[in-house]
Amino acid sequence: MSSPAASPTESTAPTVAAAPLRAEIVIEGLVGAPGIAIGVAYHFRPEQLASATVRPLLSSEVPTELARLDEALDKAEHELRKIASITLQKLGDGGAEIFEAQILMLRDPYLVNAIRDRIVAEQIAADSVVEAEISRYQHLLELAGDDYLAERGADMADVRDRILRNLRQGKRTSQIEPNRIVIAADLSPADVILFSRRDPLGFALDFGGVTGHTAILTRSLGLPSVLGLHRVTSMVESGDPVIVDGYRGRLIAFPTAETTASYEREREARAQTTARLDELHDLPAVTSDGKRRIHLVSNLEFVEELDAMAAGGGEGVGLFRTEHLFLAQGRFPSEEEQTATYRALLSRAAPLPVTIRTFDLGGDKVLPEISYTEANPFLGWRGIRILIDRPELFHTQLRAILRASVEGKAKIMFPMIGGLEEARAARAALVRAQDSLREDGIPFDPTVPIGVMIEVPSAALMADELAREVDFFSIGTNDLVQYLLAVDRTNDIITSYYQPLHPAVLRTVRHIIRSGHEAGIPVAMCGELAATPLATIPLVGLGLDEFSVVSPALANIKRIIRSTTLADAERVAAEALALPTVEAVVACLTHYHAAL
Ligand code: PEP
Ligand code: MG
Repeated sequence: MSSPAASPTESTAPTVAAAPLRAEIVIEGLVGAPGIAIGVAYHFRPEQLASATVRPLLSSEVPTELARLDEALDKAEHELRKIASITLQKLGDGGAEIFEAQILMLRDPYLVNAIRDRIVAEQIAADSVVEAEISRYQHLLELAGDDYLAERGADMADVRDRILRNLRQGKRTSQIEPNRIVIAADLSPADVILFSRRDPLGFALDFGGVTGHTAILTRSLGLPSVLGLHRVTSMVESGDPVIVDGYRGRLIAFPTAETTASYEREREARAQTTARLDELHDLPAVTSDGKRRIHLVSNLEFVEELDAMAAGGGEGVGLFRTEHLFLAQGRFPSEEEQTATYRALLSRAAPLPVTIRTFDLGGDKVLPEISYTEANPFLGWRGIRILIDRPELFHTQLRAILRASVEGKAKIMFPMIGGLEEARAARAALVRAQDSLREDGIPFDPTVPIGVMIEVPSAALMADELAREVDFFSIGTNDLVQYLLAVDRTNDIITSYYQPLHPAVLRTVRHIIRSGHEAGIPVAMCGELAATPLATIPLVGLGLDEFSVVSPALANIKRIIRSTTLADAERVAAEALALPTVEAVVACLTHYHAAL
């Protein structure tokens, strides 16, 4: 398993305990994001919905509590309506019935009055009353010995949890003090975004895969993270002193003074290495014989990251993930809001090019408010599939990108394309957006290049045909690896099977690059393989035109590109691609890398 390119990202909390109270513990896991964080833990526990405690109220607090209940019921209904409307679009009338039935349960006057009456009579908080009253109702249904009623019991349980979640809403971030190291079993990308508002120093998680979006986000935010620790939540509590070693994928709890001092020294040394890499800032990413000029650009999640791109010497944006606009707000941003973001992005980056990817929702990036679950979300309603099924959403985003295109050099890229039909549907949606802007008399750049992500194996196999339909390819190895090798990118249990340097991946990449070049279009890579130092030389040798990486990785990738001749890179690529096992590929590349 390769780790992401090293980038020294370090920070120290203001209040590290001077002397540890307990013996040092070292927990091994996976590298999420490089860097060293020395600080104090905040142990995040998602709400335990089944264990509401009885909380007495003063009589003066009862009216506020009833209002809190009403608000939670309103929010739960709002969520259910949203889910019902999505289901209606996806499945037609039949599918949404269940959610409409849940709304009826939620608003059942008998139930709501019983809850309200008990809050008033017993002067206790709504949580335990909601839990007890709905659970009672649910058990009655389940005990009736009728499958249909038992299923309604499960629906009731869902309604109960939804109300309870809303009653407790807002607690997630409010308890977190700034500058803490977040310890959690797992976090969604949306959680990371919420936490990032409190300036955390780093993250340590029991679960999570290295190319999951949670890990990618921590890298983009420049926050050290370790994943797959499995027992960190049972060993570390809020307030404990900890060190996140994002270079080795390790968490140290209760570090000794020597350990802390040694990490401080390492941090200093790494800062010096970064300073040396900074010397390459103004030099081009070109092979040492000057024969191949590579376009080295950044992957961005936030407009603010343009500063990090400039600091790393990035020559533009190869991937702007737009999902975060949406995850951060918990709703779809309007055309105006999106236009403002894309305008800011394009005008600040100009004259450098910016590739904006349309929403790639689904998979591990679901809206917090939409809590429907799919059995296999990565094989489910995701990326271009959602956009094609929700034309109004797609139209809004495309209009916004086109409107902003007058500000700079925009490119548009579509995610999760599986074949020609989807590529054509995406292009047709773009033409519709262009036509509507023309009708409205709104200016846009009609020459914006259109590209597709090649990240689904079917698209990789059809790359020669697809290349004739678009202006560029960008290889999304994070997904390509998971789909090609059938390994969930977010599952740390099978992480040893997630092998970006697998011969099947390299041969697929070769086929994609060749197909693109035969059709005369450039081929980029924006998956994490592009930021993997061991892969840099063979990718240059295969003819990859553009490497798009998290900004902290730019300088190191440039250093490697500048350290090889094109002929050597081609030789290494040919040799690696002839090897039959991942082990042999890694050994071969490690050999060349060590000689650099
Ligand atoms: C990829 O799949 O490699 C990619 C860059 O897209 P994402 O990580 O957002 O799925
Ligand atoms: Mg992808």
